[in-house]
Amino acid sequence: MTDTWSNAVVSQVRAVSGRPAKASTPQEVWAGLSAAVVDHIADDWASTDRTYKAGRMEHYFSAEFLMGRALLNNLSNLGLVEQARASLNAFGQNLSEVLEEEPDAALGNGGLGRLAACFLDSCATLDLPVYGYGILYRYGLFKQLFENGFQTEHPDSWMEEGYPFIVRRQEEQRLVSYADMTVRAIPYDMPITGYGTKNVNTLRLWKAEPLEEFDYDAFNSQRFTDAIVEREHVMDISRVLYPNDTTYEGKVLRVRQQYFFCSASLQDIVANYIEKHGSDLRGLSDFNAIQLNDTHPVLAIPELMRLLLDDYNMGWEEAWEVVTKTFAYTNHTVLAEALETWEMGIFDRIFPRIAEIVREIDRRFRLEMAERGLDQGTIDYMAPVSGGRAHMAWIACYASYSINGVAALHTEILKRDTLAQWYAIWPERFNNKTNGVTPRRWLKQCNPRLAALLDEVTGSDEWVKDLSVLSEYTSAGNDDIYRRLGEIKAANKADFANWIAEREGIKIDPEAIYDVQIKRLHEYKRQLLNAFYILDLYFRMKQDPSLQVPKRVFIFGAKAAPGYIRAKAIIKLINTIAELVNNDSDVNETIKVVFVHNYNVSPAEHIIPAADVSEQISMAGKEASGTSNMKFMMNGALTMGTLDGANVEILDAVGDENAYIFGATEDELPALKRDYDPRWHMDNVPGLRRVLDALVDGTLDDNGSGWFYDLHRSLLEPSYEPADVYYVLGDFAAYREAKDRMAHDHDADPLGWNRKVWVNITRSGRFSSDRTISDYAREVWKIKGEPIA
Ligand SMILES: *Cc1c(COP(=O)(O)O)cnc(C)c1O
Repeated sequence: MTDTWSNAVVSQVRAVSGRPAKASTPQEVWAGLSAAVVDHIADDWASTDRTYKAGRMEHYFSAEFLMGRALLNNLSNLGLVEQARASLNAFGQNLSEVLEEEPDAALGNGGLGRLAACFLDSCATLDLPVYGYGILYRYGLFKQLFENGFQTEHPDSWMEEGYPFIVRRQEEQRLVSYADMTVRAIPYDMPITGYGTKNVNTLRLWKAEPLEEFDYDAFNSQRFTDAIVEREHVMDISRVLYPNDTTYEGKVLRVRQQYFFCSASLQDIVANYIEKHGSDLRGLSDFNAIQLNDTHPVLAIPELMRLLLDDYNMGWEEAWEVVTKTFAYTNHTVLAEALETWEMGIFDRIFPRIAEIVREIDRRFRLEMAERGLDQGTIDYMAPVSGGRAHMAWIACYASYSINGVAALHTEILKRDTLAQWYAIWPERFNNKTNGVTPRRWLKQCNPRLAALLDEVTGSDEWVKDLSVLSEYTSAGNDDIYRRLGEIKAANKADFANWIAEREGIKIDPEAIYDVQIKRLHEYKRQLLNAFYILDLYFRMKQDPSLQVPKRVFIFGAKAAPGYIRAKAIIKLINTIAELVNNDSDVNETIKVVFVHNYNVSPAEHIIPAADVSEQISMAGKEASGTSNMKFMMNGALTMGTLDGANVEILDAVGDENAYIFGATEDELPALKRDYDPRWHMDNVPGLRRVLDALVDGTLDDNGSGWFYDLHRSLLEPSYEPADVYYVLGDFAAYREAKDRMAHDHDADPLGWNRKVWVNITRSGRFSSDRTISDYAREVWKIKGEPIA
């Protein structure tokens, strides 16, 4: 086996580079080794596909899959890491170096896309018959650079040099028709290996291509530009991922994208059903369930209606019956601006038949609700179409047999506020599925030192497949384990300090507390609160040079949507604070600020194992779940957080004494906000005025952009808009107190700190995506594991 494998690696590297393996570049070795992995799994992949297609399947529709790197994940799942290392060593190449050659597949914005990726990993590991369906974006989420502290965006052409983990399936192409064009949807399949199983699942990503390469007549008559215009117009459909979590631009194109992958994927599902069960599609939902990851794929609902009505001649009632037994909907946010609506005019223009079906769904909905005795106001509010706009979340709620939130608190808020009207009618549809993350990528692979300790303490690697076993070892914690946790963290921090020195050109002290906030930049996530703490600490240190301050490095990573100026202003602010702090010799031996540029999955894998403190400080009620909170917990960082999203469940798992919780709670906020006066806090919380003044008195320079002045105004000026919507000043004092106390605890009692760390790690089992996916499989999808022979 070892020899065969090594030979395969050498052959593949040679095939890629056209050179002897030892003379190949690390990039070529990466491509060759990756090809060897695909070669290794090809038979099992085909047989998994055959097995699944014979029975009931679940299809996970998502506009985003934030996959990150694939090679190490696959080697690790297949148990080939050490063999790969040895094979490479034999021709003088280094595995770690080769792994760093891989680009991230960043086909997602943030948490929602990464969740989809963790789910695929768990589905494969649990042998579950689940397909992922999405779009093969040519450009992933933009590459972020900082110029003068300002974010700039650059194209992320992640597969320009070829990507071995994706296979074009030319023969399975579909046609997708719009009023103004028909395009080819070409499937590209990515193998999804599971840990310790032969099963290999599939992520199918669609690429848009023109029916004809280009217009020969135009070309021949010298109209070269005309000849390629149409082609480019089609290719636009899968060109870019919209770099925005909340509101959407380029509306028509966005709608085209959504329809594109929904239509192609449904054609796949229907074709397989017909092949296996014949053309009576009334049984479609017996063999297929479709999970809608947020509202982006909701056009699948009218599209499936269209297929059943027009292509398979079903009556409306029959078709609606099938549709409503097929779809399940996951809501990911309570932010009002993120609930997608589209002007019906866009639908009329690009797919009039879909528009007609949506209007018919609306007409029938209104009749049904009138029969149930709802008043006109409620009906208008809930209707699929109102004010000339299609409400995608309302369509999803009406047509889905299951509606879920992503953490217990979030689901309660959906039932009570956001979707209260639907909950009143269909309480049985609502369920909670608290998010999770895969312990393969987020513990075993990114933190091998901690993984080795867990193997040793538990006497096996069973935890990798069943993280809940760790809870049996909480009480096994002892001073020896706590000491070793300290050593592991120290070693991870030393590695991280080297990585940062190379990547960002900043030297950081491996002995300092690493306090980390990494997530998309959004006002509700309150990076500003963290920035204000640092600024206040800086002023405290300047004022009293004898102040005893625990050594700390404050680490940030975040991209802002390109059109979200206030978020970009916060990035500029943090970079400006970093400049101030890092260059002031009065403080820079004690505190430093690092903003990691171009935050993504693979930087997260370097950062999280080195973190001591996990910043989860959103305004309560706004973060649906959060998943970085879970990754940090598994890696032994303690949570500094509000009672929001899954933080509530983390606190429940570890107990009050093992987390640092502060600030206004979701049920307190309405009353607090009613007569909230941010200026009162500025005037009465010591130090806060000094921090706010620094934004506008020249201490911090925004290079004439006016952005810091706008931030200042947004917090304090009630006429501007409701001032300080996210309660930054209101929570400041509580945050400062908790954070000072946390840093003190870390330094005062290292063993005590590591006792808390151990509790966090061993209680993280319920935040494995294996638990989440088992719950979906059992309660929503009604599927079971199908290991291949
Ligand atoms: C986990 C993850 C997220 C989600 O982070 P939250 O703090 O839960 O918002 C976003 N981006 C990347 C790259 C991640 O790995």
